[in-house]
Amino acid sequence: MYPTIENITIEMSTFCNAECVICPNSKLETRRKLHLMSLEDFENTLNLFPNLKTISLCGCYEPLLDSRLSQIFDIIKNINLNMKITMFIGNTLLNLT
Ligand code: SF4
Repeated sequence: MYPTIENITIEMSTFCNAECVICPNSKLETRRKLHLMSLEDFENTLNLFPNLKTISLCGCYEPLLDSRLSQIFDIIKNINLNMKITMFIGNTLLNLT
């Protein structure tokens, strides 16, 4: 347990549909296999932080490619309904019309 930590960042996968020049993602693909964190591992990880206030879903991946996103939100909200969620996304998958 880590009771003093209030904010964490979790990289749920290594999947991304972009190749931004500022990002090491494409270069890392040769070293990192495509990987998805299981929902069980995700929930177990969150439960290590009983006073969590904010979770960031980011890293070298595109969160919107994860078809489990609503399940991920459900897990977060079941742990703490007031938890703030941030995501860094690439914008190519948003349809704002
Ligand atoms: S969208 Fe994000 S993760 Fe994907 S290549 Fe660009 S900066 Fe990296």
